[in-house]
Amino acid sequence: MYMMDLTASKFKEIKSSVDTVLLPIGMIEMHGPHCSLGTDVWIPREFVRRLDQRIGDRVLMAPEVAYGHSWGLAPFEGTIDISAEAFSQYVYEIGKEFHRNGFEQIVLFNGHGGNIPSLTTVAEKLADLGMKVLTINWWVDYREQILEITKGPGHGGEDETSLILAIDEKLADPSLAGDHQVNMNPKIKYEKSGKVLFKDGYLGNAGAATAEKGERLYEMMLELVLSDIEDLWRVAYESVN
Ligand SMILES: [Zn+2]
Repeated sequence: MYMMDLTASKFKEIKSSVDTVLLPIGMIEMHGPHCSLGTDVWIPREFVRRLDQRIGDRVLMAPEVAYGHSWGLAPFEGTIDISAEAFSQYVYEIGKEFHRNGFEQIVLFNGHGGNIPSLTTVAEKLADLGMKVLTINWWVDYREQILEITKGPGHGGEDETSLILAIDEKLADPSLAGDHQVNMNPKIKYEKSGKVLFKDGYLGNAGAATAEKGERLYEMMLELVLSDIEDLWRVAYESVN
């Protein structure tokens, strides 16, 4: 169920049977010439829609955090970069409030790479409060399986673009992109190095993206996400700790 749809009394009522909240977290940033600035928000939103059909009776779908941290893409037009400190604190406070409202488990469903270090800290701090926390970074967690469907993944790459096309073919145009690989070690940072790493604002073989591949990616990853959430519940209810 979607939190935004509930009244306060309904919210209070569902808490007797629902103690897990899912918080989608995205980013507004450059995604090449072919994908919208909201790509990292659209994808978690679509996962939530599909998850709600499967486990909506057991999970509260919280409204998303649309803005995140993106040092690498900040030099590009359209990136709204929130500092890692402010972003971490903000997401932590949201989790803390859900805990105060009675939620014991939280799923941080992330759609954007630059958020990862912050969310690691957030997950640890929420765990210290007593919450059970599952963080999902879909393109990292399920990379092996993604490569079986899309061979050229990356930021705005074949995987992300396909996932967007599967939502709505009007949201991306792969004909505006090609195959962009950069021969640079991403572990090296210098001022505005993201401009070199993400030439034209994307990485991967976006030109090969299709809606059909995107649909296959959603179907495949949905089962993996559900399995991760089952693991979270196993830890929560079977006191594995
Ligand atoms: Zn993205």
